Amino acid sequence: MISCQTELICLHCGDVTPHTIFYASLYIKRTMCNQCSFTLEKPVTKLMQQYVHNIPARAWSLTYRLKIEALSHPILFTLSLPKRVAHKPFELTREFVEVCL
Ligand SMILES: [Zn+2]
Repeated sequence: MISCQTELICLHCGDVTPHTIFYASLYIKRTMCNQCSFTLEKPVTKLMQQYVHNIPARAWSLTYRLKIEALSHPILFTLSLPKRVAHKPFELTREFVEVCL
């Protein structure tokens, strides 16, 4: 799970404190105050709802990017396609597991 550090207002401390933000795929899953460990976590059902909602837009965007790449660099595109086709199901599965756990 990817995380990053930033400063936010802690609802428990009532002050600006360093926080760790944890991501599941592209979505913020949890924020934790580094000072008092107060944690806010998004429910899995909400994360899944966001993930599923964004899939059509992501598919459309991917299709568009692939089309541009195929037209501008057809040989490189063709050579990279088998690896990408094989890798995509694993990538989607990894994202879905991150969102669900
Ligand atoms: Zn705090």
